[in-house]
Amino acid sequence: MTSNVSNYNVDEIRRDFPIFEQEVYGKPLTFLDSAASAQKPQCVIDAISDCYSNEYANIHRGGYFLSQALTAKYEASRETVQKHINARSSKEIIFVRGATEAINLVAQTWGRSNLGAGDEIILSQMEHHSNIVPWQMLRGEKSFDIKVSPIDERGNFLLEDYEKLLSEKTKLVAITHVSNAIGTITPIKEIIKLAHKVGALVLVDGCQALPHMEIDMQDLDADFYVFSGHKMYGPTGVGALYGREELLEKMPPYQGGGDMIRSVTFDETTFNDLPHKFEAGTPHIVGGIGFAAALDYVAALGFDNIHDHEKTLLDYGLEKIKEVDGIELRGQAEKQAGILSFTMETAHPHDIGTILDQDGIAIRTGHHCAQPVMDFMDVPATARASFGLYNNTDDIDRLIDGLHKVNRIFA
Ligand code: PMP
Repeated sequence: MTSNVSNYNVDEIRRDFPIFEQEVYGKPLTFLDSAASAQKPQCVIDAISDCYSNEYANIHRGGYFLSQALTAKYEASRETVQKHINARSSKEIIFVRGATEAINLVAQTWGRSNLGAGDEIILSQMEHHSNIVPWQMLRGEKSFDIKVSPIDERGNFLLEDYEKLLSEKTKLVAITHVSNAIGTITPIKEIIKLAHKVGALVLVDGCQALPHMEIDMQDLDADFYVFSGHKMYGPTGVGALYGREELLEKMPPYQGGGDMIRSVTFDETTFNDLPHKFEAGTPHIVGGIGFAAALDYVAALGFDNIHDHEKTLLDYGLEKIKEVDGIELRGQAEKQAGILSFTMETAHPHDIGTILDQDGIAIRTGHHCAQPVMDFMDVPATARASFGLYNNTDDIDRLIDGLHKVNRIFA
């Protein structure tokens, strides 16, 4: 199938991803779980393999050829991330294990030194646990309040209700750009603007946004923006925290160890400059390089093309899923990413997942690490099909056939 987006040939793109050469239980692999983790193109696999085969040494401290060459490549990867999100400086890009570590870093450094009794932070109803639990853990110590910004029953973020929660007590707003559980795209620019009006900082969880849209830090004006490489067609174990330079400068370090120091005596340690102040220990060198390869790959396909292709898929999926009896879509916000989150009258989400799996269709079932939004929707779990740049309408047709089969089995 060729997408109706000119020059975006999804058949060709699928050939970049070796995983699609295999069959599952003798059926073609229908991969609809990119929101959990995306598949990897050959260029990312090659970048990782080349690095281990031909370029590998520890970085930053070695005076010899391999170490210096790989240090330069790793730092060039940081610049690739910087340019990808249009940050002002590569000092604003902290390599971390992923979004979870990035949020914990901000909670334990900025949060620990800036939040206290009488202060408030605002999260949304649809946050991933990784943007709830680190704040709760800190609240246990620092006694600030957590306010929850509501959504409506379709999953729309309620901007006016959010505005009412803001006050001079609000020190931080930590909100997702795109919900992994129900697909809502939040009005993040307005959220940031309104928070800044009361002097609050904003941390954006960009995990689910980065693979689907162009992200521009200077345009968004977020204070912190976090994401994981593995959802962006890159390796696991690497991601980034973007932070405004003047904030990062003032924040204490996160973990202590090698690389994050300038000098150490038993009496005193002085810390390294940004970004190294926040990167203790040997980093995921090859991961950073693989992540940059993934960003280059996605950029070459073009975000307008990816967006249009995924929008076509979502519209097609939304139309086709109506044909299935007893489906209830959980999350039908006005602005929606390529995620179909649903329940069925006949079967529990886990049973839906098992039946689909028998036909080689991989979807995610459960609470998607977002239990508060499941509680709000009054369901323990949903079935979630999520799209990546390599999905096509055949994938959706197979999903729909599988859902009809679920109904036949459980009727
Ligand atoms: N936020 C969102 C919206 C997510 O979807 C995820 C991953 N499911 C995370 C945060 C956490 O990302 P990671 O597990 O890569 O740290």
